[in-house]
Amino acid sequence: MTNPSLLILPGDGIGPEVMAEVRKIIDWYGAKRGLVFDVSEDLVGGCAYDKHGTPLHDDTMAKAQEVDAVLLGAVGGPQYDNLDFSVKPERGLLRLRKEMDLFSNLRPAQCFDALADFSSLKKDVVAGLDIMIVRELTSGVYFGEPRGIFKEGNERVGINTQRYTESEIARVARSAFDLAMKRGKKLCSMEKANVMESGILWREVVTEVSKEYPEVELSHMYADAGAMQLTRWPKQFDVIVTDNLFGDLLSDLAAMLTGSLGMLPSASLGAPMANGRPKALYEPVHGSAPDIAGQGKANPIACILSFAMALRYSFDQGDEAARLEAAIEKVLADGLRTADLMGPEGGTPVSTSGMGDAIIAALDASL
Ligand code: NAD
Repeated sequence: MTNPSLLILPGDGIGPEVMAEVRKIIDWYGAKRGLVFDVSEDLVGGCAYDKHGTPLHDDTMAKAQEVDAVLLGAVGGPQYDNLDFSVKPERGLLRLRKEMDLFSNLRPAQCFDALADFSSLKKDVVAGLDIMIVRELTSGVYFGEPRGIFKEGNERVGINTQRYTESEIARVARSAFDLAMKRGKKLCSMEKANVMESGILWREVVTEVSKEYPEVELSHMYADAGAMQLTRWPKQFDVIVTDNLFGDLLSDLAAMLTGSLGMLPSASLGAPMANGRPKALYEPVHGSAPDIAGQGKANPIACILSFAMALRYSFDQGDEAARLEAAIEKVLADGLRTADLMGPEGGTPVSTSGMGDAIIAALDASL
């Protein structure tokens, strides 16, 4: 049997620093758990532009289409701000998402007990929180036609169109049900079926797809009520599926329930490949943080948690993903803190690599 394959694209700024810690974890799984990955590494973003004059070389794009999963650090930096739009670092990331047709964006909101004080909500509301927002990423109001600013009589009118086909709704719904099957078997679908026809269709199609997943308990909620419930008592949810616009808002809201940007992973999934695995790109939510790049200050946990998501959702290694998350929980409970996690209660300051080494030690202790 061939080893699962991973393409690593560290990118710019703190990307290579946090990815170096992920490489240690990948090596640990190979050495200690017999989980060996075929890892290749390439350029994306500003560093790719510096070398090739494009933020994503065609060869890199082709590799991304072939591997079982892509793991990306971050792209961008002030030195690229004045480049032409077509070669800006972000275009590399957008090309990956578009050509891999990654329509299902997974944004977990997970609160480690040791960091519950970082939330703006009361500790008991967020401690132990572990929910997943699935946002449709390639259609809806951000893409629908007609769009533009037009002249109507004496004034201008701005138009965007919310448009969803049945198949677009069904595929993201299936992706959310598949996730729910790997988690708590509870799915809440959010739309505005009370005022939007696209919401009515969304609700109907999600309900039809639910027949393929009799074990998953499905509920529906209007997205505005969903926002209220997410801040009132987020632990009532397991997986939430919603459209591009509502997902944009709700996933940011949910992510911030848990505190620091340095802790937030994400995944974007596409259609299943021949081997049954979905096309997949895993990346931290944060950017390249040029203000702290090269100083050993970056928190590598968001990137490491992105790898944990890859273990769970691309490689069916849910137990190993849980082992890695538990190792992170342990290190945080022991008081180790990168600069971004240093709250009023203090802690033991660690560098980027110090945090990675501590997580490896906790993994060793888990055996
Ligand atoms: P950013 O996420 O890079 O940084 C925002 C703030 O959070 C900064 O103060 C930074 O130091 C801090 N921060 C971010 N990640 C951290 C980590 N892992 N550990 C500790 N602190 C962390 O957002 P920005 O400053 O708005 O953007 C900087 C560059 O990154 C820009 O070029 C932007 O275009 C790019 N960007 C890229 C992505 C991506 O690659 N997906 C996402 C957002 C921004």
